[in-house]
Amino acid sequence: MSRKLNLRERYQRMTRDLAWEPSYQSKSDIYPQMEFEGIKIEDWDKWEDPFRLTMDAYWKYQAEKERKLYSIIDAFAQNNGHLNVTDARYVNALKLFLTGVSPLEYAAHRGFAMVGRQFAGVGTQVACQMQSIDELRHVQTQVHTISHYNKYFNGFHDFRHMHDRVWYLSVPKSFFDDAMSAGPFEFITAISFSFEYVLTNLLFMPFMSGAAFNGDMATVTFGFSAQSDESRHMTLGLEVIKFMAEQHPDNIPIIQKWIDKWFWRGYRLLTLVGMMMDYMLPKKVMSWREAWEIYFEQNGGALFEDLARYGLRMPKYWEQTIEGKDHITHQAWGIFYNYTHAAAFHTWIPDDEELDWLSAKYPDTFDQYYRPRFEYWREQAEAGNRFYNPTLPMLCQTCQIPMGFTEPGNPTTIGFRASDFDGNRYHFCSDGCKDIFDNEPQKFCQSWMPVHQIYQGNCGGATVPDVLNWYHLNFGVDNFDYAQSPDRQHWQQWKGEPAEESDAPDEAA
Ligand code: FE
Ligand code: ZN
Repeated sequence: MSRKLNLRERYQRMTRDLAWEPSYQSKSDIYPQMEFEGIKIEDWDKWEDPFRLTMDAYWKYQAEKERKLYSIIDAFAQNNGHLNVTDARYVNALKLFLTGVSPLEYAAHRGFAMVGRQFAGVGTQVACQMQSIDELRHVQTQVHTISHYNKYFNGFHDFRHMHDRVWYLSVPKSFFDDAMSAGPFEFITAISFSFEYVLTNLLFMPFMSGAAFNGDMATVTFGFSAQSDESRHMTLGLEVIKFMAEQHPDNIPIIQKWIDKWFWRGYRLLTLVGMMMDYMLPKKVMSWREAWEIYFEQNGGALFEDLARYGLRMPKYWEQTIEGKDHITHQAWGIFYNYTHAAAFHTWIPDDEELDWLSAKYPDTFDQYYRPRFEYWREQAEAGNRFYNPTLPMLCQTCQIPMGFTEPGNPTTIGFRASDFDGNRYHFCSDGCKDIFDNEPQKFCQSWMPVHQIYQGNCGGATVPDVLNWYHLNFGVDNFDYAQSPDRQHWQQWKGEPAEESDAPDEAA
């Protein structure tokens, strides 16, 4: 009698048929987070699983990926693959990735496990469970890959500890903390849709192509391995939005508000990636401006045209990002150049060829606003006055980035917004960040603001070395300009390059 089940039937048996109607517990007790966000789901069976993947098939595919990945990583390590990168400056992009992005993979693993438990539909539960396991795999492959670099370069040694403490890592950390402390429907809109569906190409494409262009085959390998899971994640993101939108018209304004919020948070977070593309890759892939045009303006534009039939529109303030694409990466690099004595990676002034590349890629802004600034800083460094900013910056209460972005329409004035809540005043870098706070002030007034915490004495002490010690950052080794770094000295020795006369060493601020 036994007939082999086809894929669809098999999928049905292995997923949907595992569910049952509870008889002695109420659904609201089993799934206590299903209602407070206001999202109405009338029929969970309307959920269409885009990938009809059973668990046994899932394990088989993933195991195959792992085998390939780890054999390449082993070969990379045995052949001293790190010596093939373009230039040791490149490795600073990996430091940012390991300390800033990899812990987010772990956070995603936790987040999807939590929401998978909360959703009342089996199809959604299975999709979330698989993604949760994927994300755990991603963080593991990244740690294994990058561990090789830790043997030869500084700044990698305590990435997990740094992620929870270092001022600029509070930007990515707070992004995921915000999502994980929201409800399950907001989490999945934030991460699966706004981040993975709309913006993920702007994270992975630059890092992976950047790695390939700069001879880092180890990173390319984990990147491709993760990317093959990513297509499943992106499909989940789109499915979630369509499912919520089709379930009840009351869901639309709630979803729109989340899209507005998470688009802006994602855009701010991606400033770090854009800065990496424009400044940290010795061999450039494309400019941030070009990437934003392709991956957001064109692809995102088409997506939102498609979603218009549900009554969803482009994220609020998207117009500001069109102007911002000409500015934000230069402003961010300027901030890090000023504060690199307190960072676990090095900065530098682009060389003449790189400055020319930036002038060509940013014809409307670079020569007018940014090139003179970098040339002046370079002159100062060459005269022995490499500038490190001795005061701490004001941070935006929402995105936690130092207030260095300029006003729309006025690129020489720093943007600045404020709100009063419960007897205190809070500050923001932009309209987008102010709106997010104003919608949830009880949440955002609790943000762990690195600069406030330092001034309150909660970060190891009152001097920069005290704070860096608390960060587990090795003073004089992990920080300061690339020109004076041990990384650079080692690189020159390994490559047999004559040590250039380095700029005058700087005293700590
Ligand atoms: Fe991931
Ligand atoms: Zn902000």
